[in-house]
Amino acid sequence: MNMEGLRNPFKVVIVTGVPGVGKTTVLSLAKERALRRGLKLKVLNFGDFMLSFAVERGLIKDRDQIRYLSLRQQLELQSQAAQAIIKESSKELGDDGVLIVDTHAVVKTSLGYLPGLPRHVVDVLKPDVIVLLEADPKEIAARQAKDSTRYRADFGGEEGVKELMEHARRAAMSSAVEAGSILSIIVNREGRADEAADRLLDLLLKV
Ligand code: ATP
Ligand code: AMP
Ligand code: MG
Repeated sequence: MNMEGLRNPFKVVIVTGVPGVGKTTVLSLAKERALRRGLKLKVLNFGDFMLSFAVERGLIKDRDQIRYLSLRQQLELQSQAAQAIIKESSKELGDDGVLIVDTHAVVKTSLGYLPGLPRHVVDVLKPDVIVLLEADPKEIAARQAKDSTRYRADFGGEEGVKELMEHARRAAMSSAVEAGSILSIIVNREGRADEAADRLLDLLLKV
């Protein structure tokens, strides 16, 4: 089969999940473990890239303000972020490397639900795997409430989290269909982020 244009030379795994489920926490554990095993792994946060372009333009100062920008602005930042992530990774990763992108399959904005991985994003990232990190909605709402480093008061508590999780499943599957990626669901149990990191590593080794 001619794979030309279908995939990047390095493996790409996109990690998604509703805000507060624990993506960044699990990825920091997975990175430590991968380095110990000698895996060539790069973890990039999609929101970091969107934020730096938005700050450069003087639009906002904080990552939790991105979802309040206009739809056109979010689309443009999304597109710029995807391209910058692949540009940066291409410089460092060869065909033995793995890129993990920490992001969202759906973003709850003041206008409605914005797909995080529409065609213009997956066409650039070309993911081999899309991971959906899940947990008990009640636990996620509690994690959001406890984490004072972020503003997540607009997600509507346990009920809001449940609703967003439904959209996240559908959005992640739709993006997987679009990109021809595997969709893999990993559970981040309370107090067991290390186990979720191990599941993720097992998956990386099989891509
Ligand atoms: P966002 O999409 O908003 O960036 P996130 O999915 O990256 O959110 P984190 O910031 O990693 O979420 O985690 C949110 C909070 O939940 C943090 O305070 C973190 O310490 C905590 N947390 C993460 N995983 C677990 C777990 N397995 N058990 C208990 N608490 C957890
Ligand atoms: P995070 O720290 O992962 O929550 O990212 C910060 C913010 O960046 C999110 O709250 C979203 O507003 C935005 N963001 C991250 N990934 C995407 C994406 N794929 N599409 C649109 N917005 C995104
Ligand atoms: Mg995060």
